Amino acid sequence: MSGPIDPRSADCTNEAFPGVEVREGRSAEVGGMGITRVLPTKGRRTVGAWCFVDLMTPHDIENPLPLEIGPHPHIGLQTVTWLFSGTALHSDSLGTEQLIRPGELNLMTSGGGIAHAELGMAADPVGSPVGDFAGAQMWIALPESSRHGTPDFQHVSSLPMAELAGGEAHLLIGELAGAVSPARADTPLVGAEVRFGAAIDIPAVPSFEYAVVPLDRRLLVHDTIVEPGSLALVPPGRDGIHVAVQGGSARALVLGGEPLGEPIQMWWNFVARTKDEITDAWRAWQQRDTDRFGPVPSHLDRIEAPRPPWVPGD
Ligand code: MN
Repeated sequence: MSGPIDPRSADCTNEAFPGVEVREGRSAEVGGMGITRVLPTKGRRTVGAWCFVDLMTPHDIENPLPLEIGPHPHIGLQTVTWLFSGTALHSDSLGTEQLIRPGELNLMTSGGGIAHAELGMAADPVGSPVGDFAGAQMWIALPESSRHGTPDFQHVSSLPMAELAGGEAHLLIGELAGAVSPARADTPLVGAEVRFGAAIDIPAVPSFEYAVVPLDRRLLVHDTIVEPGSLALVPPGRDGIHVAVQGGSARALVLGGEPLGEPIQMWWNFVARTKDEITDAWRAWQQRDTDRFGPVPSHLDRIEAPRPPWVPGD
């Protein structure tokens, strides 16, 4: 599950912000799914090392298409897959074939190059693919020390829970309230899904910046209203984040980390530091360079990359 980054995103930079700010996501369709992309967004490329957040629901709830995203490459990032409903089969060029269900985590570390495919499944894996599927796919930019490194895939079938004041959190990655996720993290960061009744206090690391992404209800992040489909940005300097909801319970993603401290380039499914690095990866994929991007065990059609706008045509 991945949404290609469009050219507009390639030029966005991080602007400083003094208090909690809200950014509206934008909608698109990827692989039969309706997606809302809340990061990157206007004036904000990264939150910690988090550089991409897509929320996925069937594009047509009445007649859902099966999720089918054929083999495509990644560099310079980790993909974090977290489902709200349905089942999907992840296949990658390491030879991995892994089902994922709600409550489980798929974490794929591209290093210098990996290719993968995603297929929505019926609840019974022997059934035909269906579209009863919703979830989040997020990307984490890798630091210099691992972004050219060996690719890796990790499936975590049971995540730690953190008990918080007013609710609880599934801890996807990082540490929260004494809980530690087994997921591989190459930079100081945290990712969690919080569930709460009226209000929740989420411990924060003062050197981290954060994003709060409502999943089902309008929330109040400190004194700022944020609607589902939008993202609340919380600047560094706090030791806690207060989130409230009126009249019921709510769920939200909380993502944070040390500000990345260096600009990144994102284009299509690639995260890099220069356009030349992206051009090299694009060429390797188009030329079917199996040293860089090995074959994926999937019957789905391979996804061809568009030509980067800065590469002259033939
Ligand atoms: Mn992908």
